[in-house]
Amino acid sequence: MSRQQQILAEIGIRPLWQLRSTADAAHPPGTTPIETAPIEAAPIAASPAETLPVPEFVTSTAAIEPASISTPASRTDSAEQPLPLAIANWEDLHAQVAACQQCQLAKTRSNTVVGRGNRQARLLIIGEAPGEQEDLQGLPFVGKAGQLLENMLAAAGFDSARDVYICNLLKCRPPGNRNPAQDEIVQCQRFLQWQIEAVKPELIVAVGRFAAQSLLQSTASLGSLRGKQHQYGNYPVLVSFHPAYLLRSPGEKAKAWQDWCRVRQLLQK
Ligand code: SF4
Repeated sequence: MSRQQQILAEIGIRPLWQLRSTADAAHPPGTTPIETAPIEAAPIAASPAETLPVPEFVTSTAAIEPASISTPASRTDSAEQPLPLAIANWEDLHAQVAACQQCQLAKTRSNTVVGRGNRQARLLIIGEAPGEQEDLQGLPFVGKAGQLLENMLAAAGFDSARDVYICNLLKCRPPGNRNPAQDEIVQCQRFLQWQIEAVKPELIVAVGRFAAQSLLQSTASLGSLRGKQHQYGNYPVLVSFHPAYLLRSPGEKAKAWQDWCRVRQLLQK
């Protein structure tokens, strides 16, 4: 079994993706593999173009303008308004997040969690909020869900340290992994907006309902946001499942795999 097949098996996607001729031999009449083309684990910049078995995506008409990083918003006394955005560089971002007390999550966090990966990556992945392990280690997606994300990225040919920058909507853990509150999202969004404009990715993938709805300013379900190409300012956005959800609902992994095949396809263009 190849490394890619091992990874696919580990993330629970079966039957394994194979060339149709190979799959025909491996799957007797009456059985149908869910995909038929192989994905080579290779750097995305060097990967040959290939036809991947992905669904048709349509382009969302919703275009969201991100907040400018050079034009601070006016500060008001309203709890709904985040502070002006004045972040000089990545080190300043980390320092400001570490010192941030703008919402109640500052009282219960162990560490702030800003992001990891290549700050000049072509692909930006945005999740929801740190979990227990992330809060303890100060890094996003390092628990079981993070391992699943790593495996899916590897299977799709991405090196998470080289090809991807990963961060969350919130930089502090909600106690007990509860859902983010709206005021917490509003207060924290300036950091995410700065990260998006600093990375300048070719593609954003929002994983999970909260990240997708917040980024796209939508109340639509994750199911209806998946399978479409959206826009956040100048940045195309795809939506997929949060890996923590996939751990609870392994039956959805095949759909998630379709999403990651689409991600790779877009970045190969
Ligand atoms: S979640 Fe965001 S806004 Fe709230 S304290 Fe942490 S860094 Fe500040």
